[in-house]
Amino acid sequence: MRTLLADVALGACEGQGVVVDDARISWIGPMSQAPGVERRIDLDGCLLLPAFVDSHVHATAAGLSLTGLDLHGTASLPAALARIAAHADAHPGQLIFGTGWDETTWPERRAPNLGELDGATRGAPAYLSRVDVHSAVVSTTLLERCPKALGCKGFDPSGHLRLEAHHVLRRAAQQAITSEQRLLAQRATLARAGELGVAAIHEMAGPDISGRADLESLLQLARAEAGPSVCGYWAELGQTDIVAELDLAGAAGDLFCDGAFGSHTAALHEPYRDDPDNRGSLYFSDEQVTDHLRQATSAGIQAGFHCIGDASIDQVARAFEAVAVEYGDAAVRACRHRLEHLEMPSSSALHTFARLDAVASVQPGFDAAWGGRGRMYETRLGAARAAGLNPFASFAAAGMTLALGSDAPVTPIDPWGAMAAAVGHRRVQSRLTVDQAMAASTVGGWTAAGDRRPEIGTIAVGAPAHLAAWSIGQLPGDPLGAALAGVIEGGPAPRCELTLVEGGIIHPMAQL
Ligand SMILES: [Zn+2]
Repeated sequence: MRTLLADVALGACEGQGVVVDDARISWIGPMSQAPGVERRIDLDGCLLLPAFVDSHVHATAAGLSLTGLDLHGTASLPAALARIAAHADAHPGQLIFGTGWDETTWPERRAPNLGELDGATRGAPAYLSRVDVHSAVVSTTLLERCPKALGCKGFDPSGHLRLEAHHVLRRAAQQAITSEQRLLAQRATLARAGELGVAAIHEMAGPDISGRADLESLLQLARAEAGPSVCGYWAELGQTDIVAELDLAGAAGDLFCDGAFGSHTAALHEPYRDDPDNRGSLYFSDEQVTDHLRQATSAGIQAGFHCIGDASIDQVARAFEAVAVEYGDAAVRACRHRLEHLEMPSSSALHTFARLDAVASVQPGFDAAWGGRGRMYETRLGAARAAGLNPFASFAAAGMTLALGSDAPVTPIDPWGAMAAAVGHRRVQSRLTVDQAMAASTVGGWTAAGDRRPEIGTIAVGAPAHLAAWSIGQLPGDPLGAALAGVIEGGPAPRCELTLVEGGIIHPMAQL
């Protein structure tokens, strides 16, 4: 259907019209010259932007925090236990699957223990991941279902589990989610994304994170119902055949080369400041990382790695160099391999990734949540190392493709918040410009997932019609920059009035 988006602002140009013909933009110009169309949507001066891409999402877990138990923002351990107890009372006997607790923000500075959790959960099986999802507390009932966890690395009798013990319990908890719970959660995530002007999410699936059935159910849902498109990724060492089987974007995503700072599991060259005997852990050998990259590169498939600490990032950089020697720089470049988080890169690793055209898939919400004086990064790493984390401007200066994401449920899907955190990075030298942040939230996300269509992620004639219209009031001059400045100062994000994916309306649903 030929549709006119009437009376929009394109940058500083007000009173514009944009015609969408099926999936593409076919005309842009002043309203006085608008052509005849079959459908007209009046947008009353809304700012029209390319729709956003969230380049790192875990849809089911994000949806469970929307539909179920969410412990983000709890002010103390007793407050968290009270929220857990209220949830348990409202859903007697059901598996409690939650996330978001962060003991570094509580006066007690510790995780709930097994006894406290058993009391609050009223005896139900419970899996409650820490905010960074790299460790979790569980209840006795869940632990009893999975006795092999007791012998695994990372098991702690307090019930706060890390490393392999955590992965085993997470799998048990995932398997205990009913298909109905899963469908509701995935729908909630996609609906929320659409409401926030997000046209695509990159789903970071893998055997230890969510499982194949979970990914297949999400891809089927995205095909069957109007909503953001889902670019699927699967992260499993040496598994590249699944990319063709499920029509995925790559053998990439959260292939965990290490853990996370908050859980003391990101792999460091020097010990944690608040745990001087601990440098975190590399989860794979150099050979394993290199083999995965080699296998993907030789098949022309995008590989990718979750790497956070400097030791982990250097390991991945060594693998890039080794595979480049074998296959040539051009073969590695052509795959546009991706790096998730990339929080603590050395300058030599950064140089390697830039030379080999790797994509930096980064989460500005992490700096907003954990950066700054006296907060988690500094507690774990000390001020000097903490200050160098998430150097977005260095990635941009080196010419790397940047793609912004949330890692929801770690931080919520919130594209304006992500751009604001990138432009307002706590370290001035690490900040992106407004244009860089916008590109990383749009075209960067599409190209990161292998969509190389000309004009993708922009507003231009011929471009795929992925668009979002925003109510911003009167903001003359540079409306995007001004709206973003408002968010950086703590104001609300603009309201999304319309989201189009390939020309189809996904928000508001009443327009469908
Ligand atoms: Zn992730």
